[in-house]
Amino acid sequence: MAIKVTLTMLGESGDTAWRECISCGDDVHIERWNLGYHHCKFCGDALARQRKFTIAPLNKSNYMLFTDPELLKQLNPKRTT
Ligand SMILES: [Zn+2]
Repeated sequence: MAIKVTLTMLGESGDTAWRECISCGDDVHIERWNLGYHHCKFCGDALARQRKFTIAPLNKSNYMLFTDPELLKQLNPKRTT
């Protein structure tokens, strides 16, 4: 009950102003949601990073497109992790 009172005092109009992030359930503001962003800012940034890719030249081979950093690491014979 005390929590409800506090939320009301903050001026939020119930849960109409927020939607839940489809990844983590965190709050996504309705305006952001309506723009087509169904992730919170944190998850949105993470997804944006995942979409990055790089091109790496392979020894005695062609240039290859890598979208997975882990795959790229496996190509390094001197890797320690
Ligand atoms: Zn999220």
